[in-house]
Amino acid sequence: MLACTECGEKLEEDYPRDKCPKCGGKGTLEYQMDLEELRAAEFTGEFSFWRYRALLPKVKNYATLHEGGTPLYKAERLAKYIGLPKLYLKDETRNPTNSFRDRAAALMVSNMLDFGYTAAICASSGNMGASLSAYCARYGIICHVIVPEYVDMGKMAQMIVYDAVIEEYGKTVDEAIERAEKIVEETGWYQATSALNPLVIEAQKTVAFEIAEQIGVPDVIVVPMGSGGTIYSIWKGFRELNDLGKVKGMPRLIGVQSSGCPPIVNAFLEREGEQETLWTKATSIFVLNPFKKKLAIKAIRETGGLALSVSDQEMLEAEREIAKMEGLFAEPASSGTIAALKKLAQESAIGRDENVVCIMTGSGLKATDVLQALSKKRKIALLEAEFSTKEKILRIISRKKTYGYEIWKELGRVMTKAAIYQHLNDLRNRGLISVQVKDGRKYFTITQRGRRVLAAIDEVKALL
Ligand SMILES: [Zn+2]
Repeated sequence: MLACTECGEKLEEDYPRDKCPKCGGKGTLEYQMDLEELRAAEFTGEFSFWRYRALLPKVKNYATLHEGGTPLYKAERLAKYIGLPKLYLKDETRNPTNSFRDRAAALMVSNMLDFGYTAAICASSGNMGASLSAYCARYGIICHVIVPEYVDMGKMAQMIVYDAVIEEYGKTVDEAIERAEKIVEETGWYQATSALNPLVIEAQKTVAFEIAEQIGVPDVIVVPMGSGGTIYSIWKGFRELNDLGKVKGMPRLIGVQSSGCPPIVNAFLEREGEQETLWTKATSIFVLNPFKKKLAIKAIRETGGLALSVSDQEMLEAEREIAKMEGLFAEPASSGTIAALKKLAQESAIGRDENVVCIMTGSGLKATDVLQALSKKRKIALLEAEFSTKEKILRIISRKKTYGYEIWKELGRVMTKAAIYQHLNDLRNRGLISVQVKDGRKYFTITQRGRRVLAAIDEVKALL
């Protein structure tokens, strides 16, 4: 049965939809189970996703690429390093397309087969699109993926080889979602966007079921947050196990976002307001308007958990530490959980005797821009990189009078705007550029001195 998370409206239907017809889309619909009917439900079969079919919405077809049943490692070396001896990693990178989204793809494609759908669409910044492409390929369903401008190349490569029809739309996944909604209205294709299909929460709660079977109820679970759906699914999984009397107690849920885009953390800390630069390399959690924000916050508050953000730099650092110490290559969003733990351990927010699980949602191999950043880091000394950025900025300004935002765009939006302005300040202090303010905007032009410096650089380069 589908029920509204806002007004409680109940719908008896099999087809998954997310918008409540009663309160006009203010609330989202989610599956509610009949406790009485399920009290005797057992987990059956091998340790994998479909083992938990009794607690999933009913399907007749079972689509599978052998997802789920992922290992939970005791991360001994990392544990020692962070100072939390009972640290575990739930390794979701071991799924068929290397992310936890394969669970959702398995359930949604089963549902599509039940209803005879021949085409599906999803808006995705990567993992969901890659998963869905693979499962649709396996079952002969045409898969359309709307990807935003910022998408990891590794995930895009997966979609391409799995033969999805790919459309690029908008800068962030938020815009892509709007596009996918419109296309479904026009075509009647199956809506498989993770934020819009309530089966996704159901599928992902199996991560909680597995952890419960592997080590019981941990004291703390740390989860990366984009739309907020993942942390809510884990809450729902443990909630249901409690309601059915299968376990006792809930883990404290800790949600992690990038400080470059932390709308859920801001809402949790009640400091909602404007954030000047919104950008993170962790594309899988780069969501401006999280659909499940309220539900994520509910999950965190109810379990006495917390939400915090970490910088991209801290995520990349943690990514290398996890790989170096545990042999697990996780994507930046997943690594953020370890970066967060480092902070929390320092503040003694988690006890040394507590069982802590970090969810490694997806593989680092998919995030090629990160790979590039890492390899560049090895080759280029910091000073050199600094110099080359200033040179690039100076060359942009030498071509035309321009302003900070344009320069940021021309440089490929990879730096923070604050860093650009720092470089502009330095160039100005050295007399290489000048500033005019027009209509409240600062325009930069190159000075004679600036031109002489560029000419000198060219001359030196010609000598090399
Ligand atoms: Zn409602």
